[in-house]
Amino acid sequence: MPNTSRTPHVAVVGAGIGGLAVAITLLRKGVAFDVYEQAPELTEMGVGMHLGPNGTRVLRRWGLEPLLRPAAVRPETLEVRGQDGQLFVHRLMGDVWEQEYGAPHLTVLRSELHAVLGAQVPRDRLHLGARLVSFDAGGDSVQLRFADGRAAGADLLVGADGVHSVVRRAVAGEENPVFSGASALRGVIDAEQVPGLAPDSMYMWVGPDARLLCVPVEAGRRFTYVAVLPDRCPSEESWSETGERQALTLAFADWHDDVQAIVRAADTPGRWALYDREPLTRWGHGRSTLLGDAAHPMLPHHGQGAGQAVEDAVALAHFLDGTPEGLRRYEDFRRPHVTRVQLGSRDGGSLRVKPTDGTADGGLDQLVEDVSWIHRYDVEAALERAAADV
Ligand code: FAD
Repeated sequence: MPNTSRTPHVAVVGAGIGGLAVAITLLRKGVAFDVYEQAPELTEMGVGMHLGPNGTRVLRRWGLEPLLRPAAVRPETLEVRGQDGQLFVHRLMGDVWEQEYGAPHLTVLRSELHAVLGAQVPRDRLHLGARLVSFDAGGDSVQLRFADGRAAGADLLVGADGVHSVVRRAVAGEENPVFSGASALRGVIDAEQVPGLAPDSMYMWVGPDARLLCVPVEAGRRFTYVAVLPDRCPSEESWSETGERQALTLAFADWHDDVQAIVRAADTPGRWALYDREPLTRWGHGRSTLLGDAAHPMLPHHGQGAGQAVEDAVALAHFLDGTPEGLRRYEDFRRPHVTRVQLGSRDGGSLRVKPTDGTADGGLDQLVEDVSWIHRYDVEAALERAAADV
């Protein structure tokens, strides 16, 4: 029998940052749910990431900011430099950004953010080692089947199962992600190994082909670096490939001393081949919908993977009423905004320094302005405006 009440039972597939954020919003709304995660443990790789004001605003309302702040950094400045160290952009962040955007910009290890979110979700709602292999969401209820033979039912299905989403495949069919021509080499280094860098600042060095971003994490005790380099032999699309340290050494051989110090401090980096996909025109089918990277995988250049997933979760809970129509309203609300972020992230990858005279192209000056509309966005205020317009 279909559940026609307004308190549906929701199956969330994936316990990444998106899936956990959904679990938190459902808990707050008093909606019953189960989260199914393929990994046997709720642990995460510890590479640093950004959480812009649009995301921290939500975590603050959930009361989670005090839990996150001890492990995070609120950078005080952003510096963008050329490969020889020439300063192109210097921006005060800290209080200035917090006042401008109404919430802080934080840099944090992905594992720390994941742990803070995971601690909010009751353990008996989390089913680990549950890899979804197929589902049916076309009728009056949802049937899920898992790799170990388990089966489960629900009224609605939320696919928060990341970039290789099984749920997405059922909506969008097989896709051919396009390799962007670049890979990111990433890792974490101790701050004391790079004495030229202030532990409360974010840095980017930009050259004609490569760029290096370095942001503080773990209360400034460490930095996470991400080098975006041209790559002619892309590996598969994965977060867990291993890169070669020598690629870093070669790419940044004649760059500024601070860059050299980062490269010297780096261990074997992780390698993340940057694939791009066209935004989907449809996120759902029947009683299923998508959220986070499953709905809108994006290149990392705007640092918005986590922030957009958190915003999705707020919007999903707002529209959730147990019907497929409620899911479509969530999708219609989110898709235009996130598509703009996705396409902006793609454009953000083209920032370069002119190889001929070493000067910055116009894009560098635009760096902060390009993302300010994303940081200013308040998903709850936007939902209120949308409700008032109906
Ligand atoms: P994800 O974080 O990918 O989570 C998806 C979850 O679904 C995972 O836990 C996965 O195990 C689970 N899952 C997948 N398939 C199934 C299935 N069939 N059945 C059950 N469970 C399934 N972004 C950055 O900007 N910088 C980074 O350095 C960075 N590093 C990352 C490292 C890793 C290991 C991962 C997984 C993601 C990383 N991201 C990074 C992406 C960033 O975390 C996401 O953009 C953002 O958090 C939104 O995540 P999500 O929850 O939608 O997807």
